[in-house]
Amino acid sequence: MMDLSGRPQRLLGEGLLASATSHPEKVAVIVEGEPYTYSQLLKAVLCLKAALQSRGLMRGDRVAIYMDNTWPCIVSVYAVLLAGGVFLVINPQTKSEKLHFLLENSDARILLTDGHIATVFVPVVQSISTVEHVIYSGVLKLSLDDDTGFAHFDTVISEHAPSEQFAQVIPNDLAALLYTSGSTGNPKGVMQTHQAMVFAAWSLIEYLRLSPSEKIMLVLPLAFDYGLYQLLMTIKLGATLIVERSFTFPAQIYNRMLEESITVFPGVPTIFAMMVATNRKKKIVFPSVTRVTNTAAALTASMIPELKQIFPNALIYKMYGQTECKRISYLEPELIDSKPASVGKAIPGTELFLLSPEGKAVEHGEPGILYVRGPHVMAGYWKQPETTARMLKDGLLPGERILCTHDWFHMDDEGFLYFEGRSDDIIKTRGEKVSPLEVENVLQEIPGIKEAAVIGVTDETLGQAVKAFIVVEESMTYKERQLKKMCLANLENFMVPQSIVCLAEMPKTQNGKIDKKKLIKI
Ligand code: ASP
Repeated sequence: MMDLSGRPQRLLGEGLLASATSHPEKVAVIVEGEPYTYSQLLKAVLCLKAALQSRGLMRGDRVAIYMDNTWPCIVSVYAVLLAGGVFLVINPQTKSEKLHFLLENSDARILLTDGHIATVFVPVVQSISTVEHVIYSGVLKLSLDDDTGFAHFDTVISEHAPSEQFAQVIPNDLAALLYTSGSTGNPKGVMQTHQAMVFAAWSLIEYLRLSPSEKIMLVLPLAFDYGLYQLLMTIKLGATLIVERSFTFPAQIYNRMLEESITVFPGVPTIFAMMVATNRKKKIVFPSVTRVTNTAAALTASMIPELKQIFPNALIYKMYGQTECKRISYLEPELIDSKPASVGKAIPGTELFLLSPEGKAVEHGEPGILYVRGPHVMAGYWKQPETTARMLKDGLLPGERILCTHDWFHMDDEGFLYFEGRSDDIIKTRGEKVSPLEVENVLQEIPGIKEAAVIGVTDETLGQAVKAFIVVEESMTYKERQLKKMCLANLENFMVPQSIVCLAEMPKTQNGKIDKKKLIKI
């Protein structure tokens, strides 16, 4: 195999070439207990790349990867990149209608998928003309009348020799479309170039203080950028990724974490809440973990002491991000006790500032809308110029684009950021503005409330009424009336929810965020 170690890492796939050349025998990924070395990964990637190229994949063509967190999924991401294509990872729980939209919107020519979800993807693929080839792993759970264009992942790999014919791609080319759902409408494909993703991966590696000796745990979906970047960072570093499908069976994950002596645990609040609940019943402790990270939703300060018991040797990172630029800010872990409510400052190599809705700079302490400047900002939404224009605004230099997050924050005197709420989340009731987050924080402080979410619902007299949803511990006995009274102790009158509904479980998106669109329908 040619020596690829000296290649510059300008393109996302080059991280694999470099790591596979410098330490081919090191374990790159352990997927559901099965280890694969860097040379095994590179070989499979180069074979699949050849297969994609033989199916006519050209620079810039989209390839959809509709798969679980599996070995074929990991191979697929890098094969598409090295073939010069643009990948989009679709959560395997996605149902027909959304899958149809994603395949059609992206004009994907090839679908890489898992046979066990054939009943979903086969009818979809047959109803659209753009997908020319389907490569599936595992067993196809459906018999096909006509299997033209269908091939098995293993057959495809074994039929092609590893090819080192790399596509002509430059860092400005697209590497991925990262689909994200907004509060309204269809998902939007965030266009990310190689240079933006390479930049973001290195920025994260820098502030998370990661090294090649890391063993990073992946329980988040690869369809979520938070999960995907665990893979990208691992491969760039030449570290090891321990891959599981999800956090559905926590006991299994805990065993794996101990067996593999993992060093980095990326999670979201739902996962940490489950760990804390387990720990209360039977102590769990992971001494090998030195970094714990949280993003996607806010980690409540009350959870931190218990997380420190579970991870006694770990730095805990509170972070905040949007798919539109991957990650926005992080709090230096040494400040977690002195600034527990803050999500910190801009990630390395980027800049943040707050502006009023009129575009004027705001004073320290005053709320403003957060803007992001840096090489990680998306190129726009795929084929959606109007929604792109809502998010990308003129920057400091002529022609430069910066990201308007549409999220409200304030900054303290030292420049640390505090989240106030989504601008489109703000509830207008009795003519007053209510930040759902403020109400949620008060509810969450009430003993026995595990989760709280607040929305505005149309109300004839109030304009909007504040409605809260809670999930409680079995032992909690407070009545709605008592809860309202407790809220009143900490909130202005108009902020106290008109109704508080107790749910067995919060509806969640595939990425673990509370699904407020579903709450509106309850
Ligand atoms: N970008 C992610 C989001 O959309 C989270 C992250 O990785 O920071 O929430």
